[in-house]
Amino acid sequence: MKRIGLLGGSFDPPHHAHLALAHAALEHLQLDELRWLPAGDPWQKTRRLASAADREAMVRLAIEGEPRFVLDDRELRRSGASYTVDTLRELQAGEQAEWFLVLGQDQYANLHTWHDWPELLRRVTLAVAARAGIEPAPSELVAAAPHRMQVVPLPPLAVSATEIRERIAAGRDYTDMVPDAVARYIDRHHLYRGHPQELNGHP
Ligand code: ATP
Repeated sequence: MKRIGLLGGSFDPPHHAHLALAHAALEHLQLDELRWLPAGDPWQKTRRLASAADREAMVRLAIEGEPRFVLDDRELRRSGASYTVDTLRELQAGEQAEWFLVLGQDQYANLHTWHDWPELLRRVTLAVAARAGIEPAPSELVAAAPHRMQVVPLPPLAVSATEIRERIAAGRDYTDMVPDAVARYIDRHHLYRGHPQELNGHP
């Protein structure tokens, strides 16, 4: 059976830690495919995101050259809140595979706040990034619920989209945090140049 990983996020913008996580998942879980799922309307984030078209274009540029990386735009096209469990229901109704949901540790710790999380746990094996040898900590709720989990070893990477947006808004260099093609896209389209507070949900 095909082994498919799913990597969701706002990818605003996609950066080197996303790529490191995606490559680590490919290798460690021996995936046939890793699908990148940019979120349409991330319901837990209050700030304004770059447009769906810009985030889609940047993910496309970021994953270029790795044939096992696939962009799945279904959440971008969906109106209303974007719930991972809805995406899983859709995917699993159409395709037989072994499914892995790839997550950073921050999202794993927060998983009990996700829509229909117990159903989500039944549908996938979680693949959680962690420093080699250190078990990531879930919330008590998730720890108590039956779930399949694998650890994906990943060195700690001090990169986040928030940091990138803040640097750009402040006119500082950020280009070592994203692939060159993504940096060129950001510059060409003048993304993230607004006031940093506005970029973080306090307009
Ligand atoms: P933001 O700073 O805007 O909140 P982000 O950089 O955390 O964004 P997301 O698009 O929200 O990026 O994250 C997508 C996935 O990548 C999540 O599972 C997140 O945990 C993971 N991720 C992001 N940055 C890192 C990192 N430095 N190390 C490991 N995983 C990461």
